[in-house]
Amino acid sequence: MDILAINGVNKRFGGLRALDNVNLNVKEGTIHAIIGPNGAGKSTLLNCLVGRIIPDEGSVDFNGHRLLGRHPHQINQAGIARVFQTPEVFGELTVMENVMIPAFASTDGAFQINLWRRAADRRQVAAEAEEILEDLNLIDQRDQIVNSMSRGDKRRLELAMCLVQKPKLLLLDEPTAGMSRADTNNTVELLKKIAKRKITKVIIEHDMHVVFSLADTVSVMAQGTVIAEGAPDQIKSDPRVQEAYLGG
Ligand code: ADP
Ligand code: MG
Repeated sequence: MDILAINGVNKRFGGLRALDNVNLNVKEGTIHAIIGPNGAGKSTLLNCLVGRIIPDEGSVDFNGHRLLGRHPHQINQAGIARVFQTPEVFGELTVMENVMIPAFASTDGAFQINLWRRAADRRQVAAEAEEILEDLNLIDQRDQIVNSMSRGDKRRLELAMCLVQKPKLLLLDEPTAGMSRADTNNTVELLKKIAKRKITKVIIEHDMHVVFSLADTVSVMAQGTVIAEGAPDQIKSDPRVQEAYLGG
């Protein structure tokens, strides 16, 4: 079953066609990578999915919801979470406080009232948050002030903040950008570890090693459109892909 269906999406910036009739379907429970040269439109597409950019034309269906025209917070509540290219965290607060905020915010109204009233509910949310911090190797830093942490730690924290929301779909825009080989491998291991949570993932990635070790399906974008799609092995040997990278 497709959890996400993108149909005929177009977006122009002045005279530039950033997205040119994009069609892309994502199957529930899979890791779907989007690759392509710089300027291909990958981030623009992700921004359309989360409501930060409104496409000129087209439709996006997610898990029975029409997404276009909805506000970012409504899309978030429908079950889409996103990791940004630069971490967006609360620097003055501790690691645990950072994950508790989205954990509370993502619960429904009735549960929020219970959280306020009942220590047992708060403990349940805290226990879930701790489990995620453990998975992401952040548990030893639970009481650390975030501003004092490294950039890599902040990125892991941001991922934790997404996971506590229990999203149905997680969007990652270049999660290994600017990382050393060692940190990149680390991130791949973490992403594999959280794969057990059965969250569908769409990952934009420039590092082919990451793409081929994680993805079930790969879509290749060039000049605003999807030029090839398939399993990693098919994509590796596709001449159109080679050409897009060499020519792009
Ligand atoms: P990618 O993420 O694949 O590198 P982007 O989606 O960031 O590509 O950009 C696609 C094209 O759209 C690029 O040519 C970029 O310069 C242009 N672009 C992106 N955002 C804007 C914007 N807000 N205004 C004008 N042009 C933009
Ligand atoms: Mg980008």
